Formats: sequence, structure tokens, C-alpha cells
Amino acid sequence: MADPSRAARRHPALDLDEPGGRDWPAGFLETLALAIDGLGVVAVDDGAPGRWRIFFESPPAREAARAALGASLAGSVVISPVDVEDEGWTTRVQEDLRAVRVERLLVAPPWDLPPAAAGTPSETLVVVIEPSMGFGTGHHQSTRLCLRLLQMTEVAGRRAIDVGTGSGVLAIAARRLGAREVIAFDVDPDAVASARANVALNGLDGIEVVDGDVAVLGTAPAEVVLANLTMFLLRQRRAAVAGLVAPGGALIASGFTLDQVGLVLEAFPGFDVEQRIEEDDWVGLVLRSGVRS
Ligand code: SAH
Repeated sequence: MADPSRAARRHPALDLDEPGGRDWPAGFLETLALAIDGLGVVAVDDGAPGRWRIFFESPPAREAARAALGASLAGSVVISPVDVEDEGWTTRVQEDLRAVRVERLLVAPPWDLPPAAAGTPSETLVVVIEPSMGFGTGHHQSTRLCLRLLQMTEVAGRRAIDVGTGSGVLAIAARRLGAREVIAFDVDPDAVASARANVALNGLDGIEVVDGDVAVLGTAPAEVVLANLTMFLLRQRRAAVAGLVAPGGALIASGFTLDQVGLVLEAFPGFDVEQRIEEDDWVGLVLRSGVRS
């Protein structure tokens, strides 16, 4: 399903290459995380070996960052601006996806729902997700880590916020687990559309899906905040994310790997680590906000 309006979409980015094509020196991740703080970064991709691709919110932000990074990382990287064509990566063939169980929760595409009568333990909570433009089918470790942590956290009767809802999977799961009300938002309009469609598919009320960036969203803090973003995004948006967590509330965070945990924790000094779980290299945390934070 090619969408012609997406064809022209291009994203301003900078490629940072290791000058000799070697592996990055130890500690470079920390240096990079600190160097890009506050520069209007929307995503960081380490897809190619020896290359970090950093996406910016606008071409001017990219230009400002190019100068700033040129100064702060001088000599250790080669910096080149690129305009990255939108690949519509989330539309990659997903028809083969099967349901994924995470303890009580079963995340299932419409074509792999459990039969109503047989085989499904009665305590199973089904989250139907039509794979589409929104990330989150339950097939990524970070989504599964959040689904596990959600079941280790007091959710019933609480208000929840899902930052970067993608397909809506975590918002729907939170509501299935008894959250009183869920506000889900995403900066990507395609994700918002897919989250809304999935909320309808599950026949749920009590979930509001909002189009917007965590940095500008005005909503009252909640007792449970889900943020399956990346280490870089959690750092870039730390003030906004922390501000959404009510005093004494839980921040369920994932989207980062073992080597990045320190950089995430450093961004949330007012929080205590209540849970830490791992799957492969991926980490999920429940961070508990201090009552006075
Ligand atoms: N919650 C889903 C999807 C996580 S992917 C899951 O756990 O599987 C992360 C999502 O965050 C993407 O949909 C992306 O568009 C969104 N996102 C990225 N930056 C954001 C920002 N600044 N504010 C809100 N959402 C953001």
C-alpha cells in the first residue's frame, strides 16, 4: 500500500563516521549522548557499522548541530549532512506475524486471534494489533519488556500516559490491565492513526490518542508513565518525560541496551530503580519518582 504523500517526505540528518572506518573508541557513546543533548534530535540510528545517523527536527536544527558537533567532536568523526528518504519501514511485510504471549497478555494480529472457546487460559488478556505504520507488534524486545513491567506494576485504577505509543500496544495493554484512563501520544501522525484504529479494534473506551511531542504535550501527571523510546530520546526529552510522572509514580522505560543504562539513569536523578529486567541486550526499567520530585 504505497502512500504517495509519503514519497516526498525527507528527514534532515547528519551522518557521523569513524574517520578510519574502525569501531568507535570506548566511551564514544557517552561523548555522543552528551554532545547532542539539547540540539533538537528526534532519532538516532546506529544501523551501519562505524556510522551514527542523527535525525533532527528541522534543517536549521541540523545546521546548528553540525556546527556544534564539529566543534565538540572535532577530529574524532567525519560529519556529513544527508536528507533521508522516508522508507515507510513499518510497512515492511508483516503478514507473517503471529501472536506473542507476554505472561497474561497476548498481543495478536487479527488473523492469529485465539479461538474463543478452546485453549486460551481464561485470565489471558488479548491485545489486538493490526500491524501497520505504528511500531509495536510485540515482536521487539523493548515492547515485551514494557509489557512485562506493566504486569509487575500497580496499574488497576490508575491513570496512565503512554509516551510514543506507536501502534498503541502499551496503552491498550494498560487499559486491559485495569488502568482507569490512558492518554497515549505520538509525534508521528501515522502512528497516531494506527493507535486509534487499534483502540477501536479492541473495542475499548478510556484511551485518548493525541498527536504531539512529549516536549509540548500539556496533560496532568500520571501514576504510570510508559516510555519505550530510545536512550537518546529519553535523554533529549528527560524534563518533559519526568514531568509527566506524578510524585510517587512509576516510569516504565525501555528502548535501550545494556551499555546505555547508565546514560538513561543519569537523566532521571529524582527516581529510584524499582525493577530492572532484560531480554537479549535490551533493558527495561521501572523508575519510581521520589515523592517530592
Ligand atoms: N510504545 C510502542 C512504540 C514504541 S516506538 C511500543 O512499545 O512498542 C517509539 C515511538 O515513539 C514511535 O512511534 C515514535 O514516533 C514515537 N516518538 C518519537 N519521538 C517522540 C516524541 N518526541 N514525542 C512523542 N512520541 C515520540
